[in-house]
Amino acid sequence: MSSSLDQIKTDTALGNRILANEGVLDAFGHVSMRHPTNPNRYFLSRSRAPELVEPGDILEYDLDSNPVKKTDQRLYAERVIHGEIYKARPDVMAVVHHHAPAVMPFCISGVELQPVMHLGAVIGHKVPMWDQYDEFGDTNLLLVKPEEGASLARALGQAPLVLMKGHGATVVGGTIQELMFRAIYSCRNAEYQFAAQMLGKVVPLRPGEVEKSSQINAMPTATFRTWEYWSVRLEKSGGGLPRSGKKPVGTRAQRASVARTTSKKTKTKGRKR
Ligand SMILES: [Zn+2]
Repeated sequence: MSSSLDQIKTDTALGNRILANEGVLDAFGHVSMRHPTNPNRYFLSRSRAPELVEPGDILEYDLDSNPVKKTDQRLYAERVIHGEIYKARPDVMAVVHHHAPAVMPFCISGVELQPVMHLGAVIGHKVPMWDQYDEFGDTNLLLVKPEEGASLARALGQAPLVLMKGHGATVVGGTIQELMFRAIYSCRNAEYQFAAQMLGKVVPLRPGEVEKSSQINAMPTATFRTWEYWSVRLEKSGGGLPRSGKKPVGTRAQRASVARTTSKKTKTKGRKR
């Protein structure tokens, strides 16, 4: 494994943890990154809560969202979201699907999410809304079929994010840093719009302001400064990546239980560990 792929796996794990730490992801949702040299592959964790994801959990997938190497691991049901967006958008290098509390009122009410502050200009002029019912009728609202992922990718079009009726949102970025910026500030923008609505009339940014703010927001000075900031906040919260790359998985209680079972077995068989 080349060091650049190690870095991609580390960044994918960090991206999951940062968005969990900032309240975008909870037990559900997932961050992926496209392969840096093979555009027909991407990296995504095995099925695991985002704040627990480690580089060793990251698996490589083809764009039909099949794991490249056979695995017994449980996989995310909604991975077609990632594969189908990577097919449709060659410019996209990172994707997150989430159900953040900040955007849910908009996904439920259908009230339009609008750019209301300069950092919120990352959402663009108009945020598309995708309703799974329109093409697929009654479903459990999970996107598990390639055609469902492809439908979402069509609704996304060239936008930075798409809201999903009664479900959540999917955000894309040209880098993992840009993805973090868009995912977090689209949620902040939603919170501010919601709060402003309580006070009175919401006045969105003008189209020219969205254009100019977007240019500033996309600059590395903004995306790398925020990546460093959110990474340090993650470390301070105690949620950073384990120091050792081979730290055991599961809760402390689960690990203790496994250790007890193993120790009993080795005693019975008289083997040394
Ligand atoms: Zn979902």
